[in-house]
Amino acid sequence: MVNIILLGPPGAGKGTQARRLVEERGMVQLSTGDMLREARTSGTDMGKRVAEVMDRGELVTDEIVIGLIEEKIAADTGQGGGFIFDGFPRTLPQADALGAMLTRMGQRLDAVIEMRVEDEALVSRVSGRFTCGNCGEVYHDETRPTKVSGTCDVCGSTDLRRRADDNAESLKQRLMEYYKKTSPLIGYYYAQGDLFTVDGLAEIEEVASKIAGVLAQSASS
Ligand code: ADP
Ligand code: ADP
Ligand code: ZN
Repeated sequence: MVNIILLGPPGAGKGTQARRLVEERGMVQLSTGDMLREARTSGTDMGKRVAEVMDRGELVTDEIVIGLIEEKIAADTGQGGGFIFDGFPRTLPQADALGAMLTRMGQRLDAVIEMRVEDEALVSRVSGRFTCGNCGEVYHDETRPTKVSGTCDVCGSTDLRRRADDNAESLKQRLMEYYKKTSPLIGYYYAQGDLFTVDGLAEIEEVASKIAGVLAQSASS
C-alpha cells in the first residue's frame, strides 16, 4: 500500500492521473476540490461560503479542508491500495495536519509527486477542461476530447460540465494562491526526502508511466 500526494498548479493534470491510479491500482482518490464542489451544492451556509471563495479563486480555510479529509480517511475501510491526495495539502498547516493524521493511523507518506507545468500552458489546460457530471471523467477540448461529441466515453452520460472557476481571470488568482501558499510545500517535502518531480507537459500516457516509475521506486525503498 502506498500513500501519495499529487502536487501541482491548477490544470497540471492531478485529477487525470489520480483517476488512472484508481482504475489501475485500486487506490483511493481524495480530492478536496471534488469534496468542496459537492459541499457547495448542499445548500448549507458552509456550502454557500465555500462557493464564494472558490469562485474568487481563493483557498478555502484550512479548518474546513482538514475536516473534510479527516472524515474521508476515517470512513475508509482499509481495502484500498493507498490514498492519493489530489489538491491537498495546499498550505503548510494542511501539510502538518496530514503528517499528524497519517502518523496517528500508523501510516506513512510514500511519495510526493510534483507535476511541473509552465504557467503559459495552464490557461489552455483549464479553459478547455470539461468533466462528466455522472462518473467524473476529465476531458479537454483539444488534448482529450470525447470520442462522440457530447457523450462521455466511459459511462455514456451526456451531462458534461464546465467549472465556473475555469476561466482566465479566476486562473490568475488561483495561480497567485498557488505560488504564495502551495509552492512552499515543494521545499518542505524536498527537505523531508519525499519529493519526486515529473514533467506534466508530456502526454497523458507518458506522465502516467513516469508516475508508475516513481511508485515502483518508492515501494522498494
Ligand atoms: P484544480 O484542479 O484546478 O487544481 P481543485 O479542484 O483542486 O482545482 O480546487 C478548486 C478550488 O477548491 C480551489 O481553487 C480552492 O478554492 C478550493 N480548494 C481545493 N482544495 C483545497 C485545499 N486543499 N485548500 C483550500 N482550498 C482548496
Ligand atoms: P488538475 O486536477 O491538476 O487541475 P486535470 O487533471 O483536471 O488537472 O487536467 C486539466 C486539463 O488538462 C483537463 O482538461 C485534462 O483533460 C487536460 N490534461 C491533463 N493532463 C494532460 C496532459 N498530460 N496533456 C494534455 N492535456 C492534459
Ligand atoms: Zn461519465
